[in-house]
Amino acid sequence: MAEEKNDLMEKIVSLTKRRGFVFPGSEIYGGMANTWDYGPYGVELKNNIKQRWWKKFVQDREDMVGLDAALIMNPKVWEASGHLVNFKDPLVECEKCHNRFREDDLKEKKCPDCGGKLTSPKQFNLMFKTFFGPAEESANIAYFRPETAQGIFVNFKNILDTTRKRIPFGIAQIGKAFRNEITPGNFIFRTREFEQMEIEYFIPAPKKDKDWEKYFEDWRKEMISWMKNLGIDVKKEIHELNVPKDELAHYSKKTIDFEYRFPFGQKELYGLAYRTDFDLKSHGLDYTDEDGNKFIPHVIEPSLGVDRSVLAALCSAYKEEKTPPQPSPSKGEGAIRVVLKLPNWLAPVKIAVFPLMRNKPELVAKAKEIFNSLKLDYRCEFDDNGNVGKRYRRQDEIGTPYCITVDFDSLEKDDVTVRDRDSMKQVRVKVEELKEYFREKLEK
Ligand code: ATP
Repeated sequence: MAEEKNDLMEKIVSLTKRRGFVFPGSEIYGGMANTWDYGPYGVELKNNIKQRWWKKFVQDREDMVGLDAALIMNPKVWEASGHLVNFKDPLVECEKCHNRFREDDLKEKKCPDCGGKLTSPKQFNLMFKTFFGPAEESANIAYFRPETAQGIFVNFKNILDTTRKRIPFGIAQIGKAFRNEITPGNFIFRTREFEQMEIEYFIPAPKKDKDWEKYFEDWRKEMISWMKNLGIDVKKEIHELNVPKDELAHYSKKTIDFEYRFPFGQKELYGLAYRTDFDLKSHGLDYTDEDGNKFIPHVIEPSLGVDRSVLAALCSAYKEEKTPPQPSPSKGEGAIRVVLKLPNWLAPVKIAVFPLMRNKPELVAKAKEIFNSLKLDYRCEFDDNGNVGKRYRRQDEIGTPYCITVDFDSLEKDDVTVRDRDSMKQVRVKVEELKEYFREKLEK
């Protein structure tokens, strides 16, 4: 089973490279360990995730607003937030091969690479340092943000003043974060540069001890609904871990980790934390209600990794299926088809348009006309290369929900074949009805 799962990871890494979803970073210079670049299909997939998240959690709600703060902030922010002191992982080094590991990742107290003795742990700060400006002096040390959250807290007052939002309300942000991870790895699961989608949801200071729990529960449900949207089978693939008290981040009173069954093990996909009034208090910020009462709001934080969303969606969508033999379904063995059964809204290409043959100008012209019209509304691809069966396979591999083929009948009857990715069934649809036919289907 373990082997089969690792095999799945290899297949995903290889498919995403071969088909232009994710490339190893700086590849022509021998790469840069654990850095990855999103290719043409990868960026579409990633953008679909970010856009849907923004729509669901910002645009469709009246109690949310968005923000896009600077990546590099005044270092005082990180002093106040506690990151300069507390944002650490325990690092151990092998005395023999000198490889370094995060101690809390290790199952045994010896080097996993060579079996050598490990040094005692020292606390390693994960903040990414740089110099702000041309002088490389200690006075100019700055940090790339390790979470997007602080950009939100430091703008709390600006947003109150400019939007007239009243508590409870939330601020959302999508952007890059940087952590000098000791042991990055598992493809795009753990990298030093990654993207987050975070919400800080401000609630009244609890009058009773448990007043925050209702909001926490609302956001837990929202996160589950989001994961289902991504095509994750929540019952089977997600485990909710109540983070034990002694493992909570320095700002958290309660955290749930939503762990996904990745091929390399059950690991955190997203986190939901009750950050109390820790951050606003640290920054000296407060809130005055309609009756003039001053207090420090508390915060519920759903925190989602974009890259981990991409990886989980790919793992849940990847399928290998036996197909009926061609040309006669009753004869012989079928081939294996690889198909990404992504939800339609998530697929990087929605519709592929094929002329049955590339050397028939009438077919090509009609297919181009259909392509040019559909591409105004949907991400489409035109493909006239190889036989239609091969073109279907290529689209299956990148998760395209629908393929349209223009054949000789199309020229006479003004209709086309629409083939469904999952059922592989084909139906004839009138050209003038195509947009209507796709409208509802492609929102799902
Ligand atoms: P882990 O325990 O895996 O290091 P964390 O608990 O430190 O994660 P958080 O600080 O809760 O992570 O960050 C919020 C989210 O950001 C995570 O749930 C994850 O989706 C994403 N994330 C965190 N670190 C990384 C990373 N190094 N690479 C990619 N995504 C990350």
